[in-house]
Amino acid sequence: MSNLIQKYNVPGPRYTSYPTVPFWKNNDLKQEAWIQSIHTNFKFFNSNEISIYIHLPFCESLCTFCGCHKRITKNHAVESPYIDAVIEEWKTYLSVLDFKPVIRELHLGGGTPTFFQPSELKRMLKTIFSMADIHPDEYEFSFEAHPNNTTDEHLQTLFDLGFRRLSLGIQDYSPVVQKAIHRIQSFEQVEKVHRKAKEIGYTSISHDLVFGLPKQHVSDIKYTVAKTLLLMPDRISLYSYAHVPWVKGVGQRGFDENDLPKNEVKRALYEVAKTTLEKAGYLEVGMDHFALAHDSLVIALKNKQLHRNFMGYTTQNTSMMIGLGMSSISDSWFGFAQNEKTVETYIERVNKGEIPVFRGHLLTEEDVTIRRHILDLMCHFETEVTDKTLLVDIQSRLEEMVNDGLVVFEGSIIRIKEAGIPFVRNACMAFDRDLIGKEQREGLFSKTV
Ligand code: SF4
Repeated sequence: MSNLIQKYNVPGPRYTSYPTVPFWKNNDLKQEAWIQSIHTNFKFFNSNEISIYIHLPFCESLCTFCGCHKRITKNHAVESPYIDAVIEEWKTYLSVLDFKPVIRELHLGGGTPTFFQPSELKRMLKTIFSMADIHPDEYEFSFEAHPNNTTDEHLQTLFDLGFRRLSLGIQDYSPVVQKAIHRIQSFEQVEKVHRKAKEIGYTSISHDLVFGLPKQHVSDIKYTVAKTLLLMPDRISLYSYAHVPWVKGVGQRGFDENDLPKNEVKRALYEVAKTTLEKAGYLEVGMDHFALAHDSLVIALKNKQLHRNFMGYTTQNTSMMIGLGMSSISDSWFGFAQNEKTVETYIERVNKGEIPVFRGHLLTEEDVTIRRHILDLMCHFETEVTDKTLLVDIQSRLEEMVNDGLVVFEGSIIRIKEAGIPFVRNACMAFDRDLIGKEQREGLFSKTV
């Protein structure tokens, strides 16, 4: 294993999209082209069902490991104008659609959604819901909850609006690691929010852990997993800390490079957590998620309905994702569009009646094919390549991974073997047209292992 880690631990994408963001071609995507892409989606799929992602960017305190688009402030006067802008953006979307959308999924991400008062969240959601239909039988609403500021009122208000799933950002319980990443939160606080959410009736609670954090040792991850298992959340995300200081700038300067566990040491953190979780009854889903058998993620995996997008693995079952809020990314399957990345520009453009996209990518036919293969590999660890030329091409690119016992070809089916799962991103890279001839990927992506 150690040799393989040395060999395959190279900079590479996490494939939350294909093409990946650094290779998007439409750096000045105009709103007209984006609207056209939405219309293509509805014509092709003949469906008015959508997913919505709403980015709520404010946080009261900076966690130094964070790679999200956020604005740090303790001034809560920012809430109301921001919510007004999200509502305005939604209205603009509705004015360009020629039908009434049916919402199947909605996720509040951040930043810290629970930075906002429950009354502001309620105002935003009630307005959005009043202008669309919600799927009568199958819909899933979820939100990211910061344990330190999620109140009983947040939990009850969102539950009353139809939310049944929340993710609690944990990272690590070790005081040394918490200090290094500037995120101090006690197990007791997490337990309080978790138990209250269960009592109210939430059916899927996720705890988000991170491995590879500064000053994190095997004993820390063991301690964190043991604490987590006291609450047996329905889902556990075990994210690899993506160290990309060239993108995140000041947010990641709170510790030294030497504080980061690397290669085998980092992989050991994952393996220890994985083994412990599996012994406790969790099933591994995709690359970095675990869930109990009753959870919708496991059911989606079994039904081959697992999806991967900018939020990681999801059960998303619509082909259209509308991202509202600053920096949000929308996905029409045929195109990606990202909103303005500062609060001020976002609000300014929305108030002019624009959909505030500033860049994106319109997929070619080849992009769509490659995207499907990469999604299949990331979600189900196998894909079928019926195009003979592509198959030959991929065979030659994956020859070393086959020789190393990580990948197997069964006719036109390419399968990642159990030993190859930690290296699934490397297998996806064989399909990635944008990486051909680009061995120098330092400064674009974090390491794959
Ligand atoms: S980790 Fe979450 S709470 Fe911390 S700065 Fe990032 S978005 Fe804000």
